[in-house]
Amino acid sequence: MRPDLAGLSPYGAPRIDVPVILNVNENPFAPAPEVAEDIARAVQAAATGLNRYPDRDFPELREQLAAYLAVESGVELGPEQIWAGNGSNEVLLHVLQAYGGAGRTMLTATPSYSMYPEYARDTQTAFVTVDRADDFTVDLDATRAAMTEHRPAVLVLASPNNPTGTALATEDLLALLEHARTTGPADTPTGPDDADTPTATVVVIDEAYGEFRREGTPSALELLADHPHLAVARTMSKAFGMAGLRLGYLAAARELVDHLRVVRLPYHLSAITQAAALAALSHRDSLMGQVKLLRDERDALVDHLRGRGLEVADSDANFVMFGRFEDRHAVWDSLVSRGVLIREVGPQGMLRVSVGTPEENDRFRAALEEVLS
Ligand SMILES: *Cc1c(COP(=O)(O)O)cnc(C)c1O
Repeated sequence: MRPDLAGLSPYGAPRIDVPVILNVNENPFAPAPEVAEDIARAVQAAATGLNRYPDRDFPELREQLAAYLAVESGVELGPEQIWAGNGSNEVLLHVLQAYGGAGRTMLTATPSYSMYPEYARDTQTAFVTVDRADDFTVDLDATRAAMTEHRPAVLVLASPNNPTGTALATEDLLALLEHARTTGPADTPTGPDDADTPTATVVVIDEAYGEFRREGTPSALELLADHPHLAVARTMSKAFGMAGLRLGYLAAARELVDHLRVVRLPYHLSAITQAAALAALSHRDSLMGQVKLLRDERDALVDHLRGRGLEVADSDANFVMFGRFEDRHAVWDSLVSRGVLIREVGPQGMLRVSVGTPEENDRFRAALEEVLS
């Protein structure tokens, strides 16, 4: 094994079999029976052609993902501006495979998603982070300074951020995008007289929780038209309620998508996945139906925890980070023993709870009340 990987364990949240599972930010509502039936029918039809490899470029799925984004965010994109993979984790790895690598750097702002350092590690990309501000927003000056200093090939920012729930303000993103136009890695000299031409840092906004953003928080998709070095990652795992499907995607300029196509494995999206995703997308209204309810539940949970005197981060996502606890592990553990699984993640003393069904959220509140009193 590569020496830098020896002794490491695979990443993953602990899975414990308890009645209330609020630890990995899934949509708590199972697909409706008619959605499940449609998916089964689509998979059955795809099964009759499984002797053949699937479509490598899946144009129909890219078309439907673009149509979904147009409805969700009002931004019209062509299918050639969409890329997809087995979860947005795979798509983000494609970004690092295409733009990272030995001698290159990825920059992010922490605390953030635990998988980011792993994409960097696995592609032998140097990993640099800037601390977020005390309210978990991106520290604009520090981030720009780090871009100038490290010349990152890729800047990845989750918005809303996991595990804090913090969205990135549009004016901050615009400022970073302007700065990023010339902060990319030095180009390869073609001769002794070749001057260093500026390159751009590819800015990836990971909107895994984008659909949960509060009224008035725009999507970075709106900035794609003017920024060829911007990519916006999305997933069907969270708001869409299809974490088990493994379908994530990204929107960007066509040229950027074409770079990702170079590094993907052939036939990485199975015919079964493509068929199931298309069937699920055709039910987007029903699958998205619960997003408003989950947003309202989230806001109520924030109010409740604040009312209880806890420190709670503003959230544009389907989870809430709260604390601070002298011994957060003890709180986590006491909740587990009351049948509620949340996540021990984030800055010291903080815990993260995903928004569940109204009943699950009640059970969480009741269990927490017992633990705290
Ligand atoms: C859940 C999550 C993802 C998405 O993972 P999938 O591979 O699409 O299931 C991506 N980014 C962040 C920050 C997440 O929390």
